[in-house]
Amino acid sequence: MYTPCVAKKRKTSPTSKARPLIARPGARFTCFSDGLCCSDIHALGPMTRSEVKHVRSLIPDAVSYNDEVEGHCMRPDEYGRCAQLQDGLCGIHARFGPEHKPGGCRRFPYGLVRTPEGGRVTTEHRCPCRTMGERPELDLADAERSLYDGAGRLESDQEVPVRIALTVERRVAFASYRKLEEELLARLAAGEKAESVLGAEPMPDLHEGAWVLHAAEFLDMRDGTAGGVAMAFFGDAVLALADGHRPPKRPRPWADAFDTACARSKKPGSPEAMFNDWLADEIWMFRWLEWGCPFDVARAELATRLAAARWLMRRFEKSGLRADQAAAEAIMIAELAACTNQWPETVDAIANDPSPASDLERRPV
Ligand code: SF4
Repeated sequence: MYTPCVAKKRKTSPTSKARPLIARPGARFTCFSDGLCCSDIHALGPMTRSEVKHVRSLIPDAVSYNDEVEGHCMRPDEYGRCAQLQDGLCGIHARFGPEHKPGGCRRFPYGLVRTPEGGRVTTEHRCPCRTMGERPELDLADAERSLYDGAGRLESDQEVPVRIALTVERRVAFASYRKLEEELLARLAAGEKAESVLGAEPMPDLHEGAWVLHAAEFLDMRDGTAGGVAMAFFGDAVLALADGHRPPKRPRPWADAFDTACARSKKPGSPEAMFNDWLADEIWMFRWLEWGCPFDVARAELATRLAAARWLMRRFEKSGLRADQAAAEAIMIAELAACTNQWPETVDAIANDPSPASDLERRPV
C-alpha cells in the first residue's frame, strides 16, 4: 500500500529561525500548471480537520475519506486527479482565492527549514514545473505567500539542531557543517559528477535485512494509485540493482503532466544538471535529519536513490522518452520513495560502522 509520510508539527528552538528567508543559489521554479501535484501521486492529502471543514463549506462534496492514508483528502476523479482541477488549474484557487486551498496544496513544492542563519526555502523535485524547461530563479515572495499557515505564521517543516552529526561518532557546529555543505553544493553546481560529490557507494551493506527485501516492500505498494505505480517502479530499480531482476512492463499514469512539460520545454535539459540540481536540494533541505541518521548515511542513501534514478532514466529512455523527460520522471520516483513510510526503515538498516561514505567529514573543520 502506498502511504506518503504525513508531515509532523515541529517545535521551534531559539537557536534556529525562519527569517530571513534564504533561497539556494541556482534553484529555479515557477508553476506552469503541468498538473502533477493535483493527482494521487501525492495522495491529495491528508488534510487537517479545519481544512476539511473549510473546504466543505465552499464545496460540500470536495473532500472524501481515504482509507489508505487514514484521513481526509481532496476527492479524486476517476483518473486519480483532484476533482477540483479544471484545465490544469485549481478550481478552488480560481473561484475563491489561493488562501482557501488546503495547506499542502498551497505549499507544494515549497518547504521551509529553520536554521541558525534563517529559513531555507526548499523545493521538491517530484514536479515537472520544478525540473523541466526554462524557469526563472525561485521567487522568495511567491514562496513566502505559500509558506504561511492558517494563522498567518511561517510554518516550518524541519529544524536544524545546534550540532550536526557527520557520522555516528562525530558532531560539529552548524557553521562547520555549513562549510562542508557549501563545498558540496558548489561542486554540484559546477557540474562535477554527482557520485563523486556524494563520495558514497549506492546500495551499501545493511545491518538488517537485504536490499531485495526492501525492494519487495516498494513493489507491495501497488494499490491502484499513480503513487503506488511509482513505488513499484522504484522497487523494480532497487531489485534490478540488487540482483539483476528484469522488471515487467508498467503503465506511467503521470505521463500527461510530463508530456506537457516536454512540449513546453523546447530546449532539452541536461539530465546530469537535473540530477545535480535535485541532489543539491536534497542536501539543502536536510531531509535526512527527519530520519535521525548522520550525514554519511544520508550521502549513502542519496547515492542509492541516485543509482535507482539513473536505472529508471535508462528504462524510460529505452521506451522512447526524451532524455530530460526520462530524467525528470526518474527523479520524481526517486524523490517520492523518500516520502514513504518505508524509506526511513531502509535508511535505518544502512550499516554505519564502518562509515558507508568517504572520509569527507574527517578533514579538519
Ligand atoms: S485543491 Fe486545488 S491545488 Fe489542491 S489538489 Fe485540488 S486542484 Fe490541486
